[in-house]
Amino acid sequence: MKLESYVVGRWVAGEGEGRPFVDPTTGEELGRIDATGIDGAAVLDHARSVGGPALAGLSFAERGAILKVIADTLTANRDAYGEIARKNSGNTVRDAAVDIDGGIATLKVYARLGQSLGEAKTIVEPGTEQLSRAGTFAARHIWTSRPGAALQINAFNFPSWGMWEKVATALLAGVPSVAKPASATAWLSYQMVADVIAAGVVPDGALQIVCGGGQSLVSALTPFDSLAFTGSAATGATLRADAAEAQPRITIEADSINATILGPDAGPDSEIFALAVREVVGALSVKAGQLCTNIRRVLVPAAHAEAFRDAVAAKVAALTVGNPADQSVRVGPLVDLGQRQAALDGIEALSREAAVVAGGGIPNAVVGADPETGAFVAPTLLYCADPAAARAVHEIEVFGPCATVMPYESVSDAVALAARGSGSLALSLFSDDAAVKRTAVLGVAPYHGRVMSVDGEVGRDHTGHSIVMPQCVHGGPGRAGGGEELGGARGLRLHMQRTAVQGGPGFLGELAADAVEATL
Ligand code: NAP
Repeated sequence: MKLESYVVGRWVAGEGEGRPFVDPTTGEELGRIDATGIDGAAVLDHARSVGGPALAGLSFAERGAILKVIADTLTANRDAYGEIARKNSGNTVRDAAVDIDGGIATLKVYARLGQSLGEAKTIVEPGTEQLSRAGTFAARHIWTSRPGAALQINAFNFPSWGMWEKVATALLAGVPSVAKPASATAWLSYQMVADVIAAGVVPDGALQIVCGGGQSLVSALTPFDSLAFTGSAATGATLRADAAEAQPRITIEADSINATILGPDAGPDSEIFALAVREVVGALSVKAGQLCTNIRRVLVPAAHAEAFRDAVAAKVAALTVGNPADQSVRVGPLVDLGQRQAALDGIEALSREAAVVAGGGIPNAVVGADPETGAFVAPTLLYCADPAAARAVHEIEVFGPCATVMPYESVSDAVALAARGSGSLALSLFSDDAAVKRTAVLGVAPYHGRVMSVDGEVGRDHTGHSIVMPQCVHGGPGRAGGGEELGGARGLRLHMQRTAVQGGPGFLGELAADAVEATL
């Protein structure tokens, strides 16, 4: 099997031999991916000249209706996608659901948003600014769809969710998408787009997919295009430099060393302590730890640090690692042997300043697979006794099932340690103390895109530290890339232009009458 690209209205095979993609459980080659010879400039031009005008002619409600049909099409094929995710991403059923159902749910949220925005094609912000004493000159702020293409480059760990969360916001904003999935796991993205194109609901040029290298796309960007990138900080920096001359709008979702904080009030016998243990164990098992938002640092009050470490270590030791086809398996392989080596190297670097208390390498026992040829890493917990002096634990993202517990003395110390991540996507706080919650949340907020507070009122009724909800913004400052996606209507900002229109109140009223009032 060789994955083709859907560009300029047809499926096209690359002209090269292609790069293999594998089953990470066995190492077996599943197929090849290649985009050699595909002209990025022509792809983007097709989006701008054909897809853009087609979408611009539709109302928000009509675009929302398209998103609903995409979601329904994907739902109808869900089982087949789960099978691809198992084979190509090493996903357990639960892992696959996070990616596949996460993509479908996000499409549905944006479909409903489209319906609620109704028959308008532009957005007007509430409020008129009076600019002259007589009141005959005023301003209103309107949002219109940008005329460019949305290039969307995704990471390997979310071939479904990563693609659809970007397509959903662009399509609702009236902007055509060019999706470029990561080569290692593009099979799922390819199959989903193939099913959606076959359903015949997306206007020509509104959705294209390039399976293979994306360099010719980045170099063909122009000022009214956008680039939404998800992946490593290093690639993000390269793409920013590559696109610097054209200056498209860019949003970058990069890696981050996210933290969770256990409040000093949460002793070992408390419900909050148990909830935090559960969350950290989840971080070491779901998708084999390959989530950008995942907990990497666990900040625990010094008095409870060893009890917390031991409670997590006991549960981690009981996690079954192996072939995701086996229903007893909780932790599948990483995406390939290269990622396994990178994770093992990262654990080695962390272990120079933190003690390994569980796992720490290739697991001894693997269910239904060979631990050498499969890309398995044992769920690994480390303990860093002096996190203020340590560096690697705040700087190295081990993109696998790995987290480090570290003690803190005061809440302000915990906040300072969390900030050592230099800007992160998500932080969770487990505490029932009102003063702790306020101090910690306001203290860490400037360093994070999302903060989740779990207390007695919330209990288990939360969506999880790592799960990105389409209603909330996703992205983080600093090292995390400085980007922002999703957040309901806020996600439209990347693809629309806000303009202050100054004029007579009569004319401004006419403009506003054709638009839907909303705050982005
Ligand atoms: P990566 O190596 O940075 O690759 C990401 C994407 O960039 C892939 O599609 C890759 O294509 C493409 N790419 C690389 N160089 C390119 C170039 N010169 N021009 C155009 N495209 C280029 O990241 P990854 O290994 O796939 O993903 C793992 C990383 O992503 C982790 O660090 C994780 O934290 C981060 N991540 C962040 C988020 C978030 O929302 N913040 C979400 C998921 C993952 P090829 O695959 O074809 O090389």
